Amino acid sequence: MKKKIALIHGDGIGPEIVNSAVRVLDAVAEKYNHEFIYENAPMGGNAIDAYGEPLPETSIKTCLASDSVLLGAVGGKKWDDLPGYARPEAGLLGIRKALKLYANLRPAKLFPQVADRSPLRKDIVDKGFDMVIVRELTGGIYFGERGTRHGKFGREGFDTECYSEIEIERIARVAFELAQKRRGILTSIDKANVLESSRLWRYAVHEVAADYPDVTVNDMLVDNAAMQLVKDPSQFDVIVTSNMFGDILSDLSSMLTGSIGLLPSASTNDTLLGLYEPIHGSAPDLSPDVANPIATILSAAMMLRYSFDMETEAENIELAVEKTLSDGYRTADLYDEGKIICSTTAITNAIIERI
Ligand code: NAD
Repeated sequence: MKKKIALIHGDGIGPEIVNSAVRVLDAVAEKYNHEFIYENAPMGGNAIDAYGEPLPETSIKTCLASDSVLLGAVGGKKWDDLPGYARPEAGLLGIRKALKLYANLRPAKLFPQVADRSPLRKDIVDKGFDMVIVRELTGGIYFGERGTRHGKFGREGFDTECYSEIEIERIARVAFELAQKRRGILTSIDKANVLESSRLWRYAVHEVAADYPDVTVNDMLVDNAAMQLVKDPSQFDVIVTSNMFGDILSDLSSMLTGSIGLLPSASTNDTLLGLYEPIHGSAPDLSPDVANPIATILSAAMMLRYSFDMETEAENIELAVEKTLSDGYRTADLYDEGKIICSTTAITNAIIERI
């Protein structure tokens, strides 16, 4: 198969980790007889320096003309004093909007090889966990009516949580379809005991459920969900929730794994053109060739699975990563005594050898 991939290298460790993922993709292309063609799409601080804006129009065009987009990370101290709309991170919001990415998929899987990094108690971790949080990305309180006004007690600020049935249904379908391909359990998280928008959320999710009789759907209040994630994360398979609840719970879940350098993510829309990126930032505090590239490599695996329907190839990458960890290779962020310390380049080589 021939596929065009837009590369947003970004800033800090971004270029290194994207290059690692490209080397792994090339190894997969060679093994399975595919052709991946790459085109660079500058975004972030480097784009501000070169073009005076975080997301040049040409980069949007490159991404829209591609089959998929792989992103490293953007941002750094150099650009921290710019106003919000001109900062590197404005590029992230811009590209999500341009590609109409409304579903954010964040897997939180415990790698047994590095389970002792988890802040959870050993008896909880020993049960293992492997879940995906499906977060609605373009609606809810982050995009609702907002402002400041004069109220009963003086100046007040307000933001509005608002979801249409259509927005809830389309994110629910993404989650149900994912659950069908996994263990068939969907937990829908809301605050239906208090919020009207959550009551509609719950109603709409159950309307969609009728089309997926093979998926078991449970409702859970967000406060209980926060407790259950810490108490027994093994109970979750797929979680679907709103923009703000998903923002908070997906960070909580990734911390449970204890390994920010291992976790990928995907943002998708109604087409196959998705955006794939590690959950971490540009780590400007790191020296060259030290960063862990695995989250970006696993993001590339998600790209193969969701955008290119290459399940076998995606699994090949995931198994190569697990084998590399089982064989004791570690970048500095995960290093323990007795393990083999690796640079970014060295661990990428080890993964490629296991493809
Ligand atoms: P960060 O995720 O970059 O770093 C947090 C900590 O984790 C640091 O100690 C870092 O060294 C470490 N770390 C992160 N990724 C690592 C990796 N792959 N290997 C080894 N260690 C890793 O978050 P931060 O420090 O809050 O932010 C740094 C910059 O990144 C900021 O400019 C921020 O705005 C930006 N940022 C970008 C994105 C994105 O592009 N999607 C996301 C978050 C933060």
